[in-house]
Amino acid sequence: MKDKKIKCIDCHKDFIFTESEQQFFEEKGYDAPKRCKSCRSKKKEYKRK
Ligand SMILES: [Zn+2]
Repeated sequence: MKDKKIKCIDCHKDFIFTESEQQFFEEKGYDAPKRCKSCRSKKKEYKRK
């Protein structure tokens, strides 16, 4: 596996989906993320409230 470049659907910036992250997501059976880390953490913050 190689690092992947993904465009964030929220801020439209490219971010790197690293090899180790890809392995982690695959283990968990998750789909590839559509958002960069900062947007994902923002979303989590928002959900928590
Ligand atoms: Zn983003």
